Amino acid sequence: MIYLDHNATTPVDALVLEAMLPYFTHKYGNAASTAHRFGWVAADAVALARERVAMLLNCEPNEITFTSGATESINLALKGVFEVYQTKGKHIVTVATEHKAVLDVCESLERRGAQVTYLPVDLTGLIDWADLEKAITPETILVCIMMANNETGVIQPIEAIGRLCKERGVLFMSDITQAVGKLPVDVQALGIDIAPLSAHKMYGPKGVGALYLRRRGPRVKLTPMIEGGGHENGLRSGTLNVPGIVGLGMSAELAHQQQNMYYNRTLRIRQILEKALLALPQASLNGHPTQRLPNTTNISFGGIRSGGLLKSLSNTVAVSSGSACTSALMEPSYVLKAMGVPDELAYNSIRFSLGKDNTEVEIIEVTTLVQQLLESLRNG
Ligand SMILES: *Cc1c(COP(=O)(O)O)cnc(C)c1O
Repeated sequence: MIYLDHNATTPVDALVLEAMLPYFTHKYGNAASTAHRFGWVAADAVALARERVAMLLNCEPNEITFTSGATESINLALKGVFEVYQTKGKHIVTVATEHKAVLDVCESLERRGAQVTYLPVDLTGLIDWADLEKAITPETILVCIMMANNETGVIQPIEAIGRLCKERGVLFMSDITQAVGKLPVDVQALGIDIAPLSAHKMYGPKGVGALYLRRRGPRVKLTPMIEGGGHENGLRSGTLNVPGIVGLGMSAELAHQQQNMYYNRTLRIRQILEKALLALPQASLNGHPTQRLPNTTNISFGGIRSGGLLKSLSNTVAVSSGSACTSALMEPSYVLKAMGVPDELAYNSIRFSLGKDNTEVEIIEVTTLVQQLLESLRNG
């Protein structure tokens, strides 16, 4: 079985697991227990993890709040910001191709009186600059645009969006879950005020993530979702998941150290994969040719029964059609639909998302297999 579904989740790096293990066994203290060494050891480990995540994003450790993952961070940020800033305005700008976590929370805020603009994208997956400029009004409190899309890998012009938001005096949130570890993400240089991320997309454990919230120029204020004890500066109560947080910290440290290696490696083998697949009859790329994550390629194969290719691959190659969250439903990907990809091509799209351990040999095996399957599906 060849795993090419790293945008859905990654394995835990051996060094991450090794860092976590003592916090399950003998270093089992509660990070909030200030009266003894067990607590201090746990609190020190959490502090180091916070520093490591802050280092990855070029922010201060006290700007990092630990959560259970990106979905929780997104809920906390969007709902919390809307609650605090709705006296200033009720308008939020986002994009039709955001992750479902963002879109579903925005819908829920609409039921609470928010006005949400969903910007369209072009066939390459990028927003139109004029659309964004027009969408921001004096009523706008937040612009929420992801850095890199999970289905297509398309990268939005985050630095320019950050500058525009600053000029217009609105908060800028960017879902960086797919970008961290793959691209440099410097929240200062990019002008990001709010950023959710998740450990399991960058070789860390599932069920732990973080939310970056700018403290100065501007200071982001929000109301908590989970109350009870005032952990994490009152933003997210509950006993800290110390082993998970240690794992997130280590995965952030490795992501920082290995970023260049990751980029060069995945880009090299992705180019081999993409070139071979796009040479097949009726194959087309979904997404931007260059403004894209190094590890992701989303390709449609025309002229075959919908879902046929994915089903045939499922025993040998782990890939995904659209995002994992929607692939249980027999609906074409909403991301590809928003890009204007025709239905019959959207149904036959496959996302290949590579990881740092994939090899050229695996990639050649996959291309040969896809080619054979396409031939038999088209003939039979
Ligand atoms: C995976 C993902 C999420 C959700 O992260 P979880 O930690 O699994 O909740 C949010 N946004 C993007 C872009 C993602 O890829």
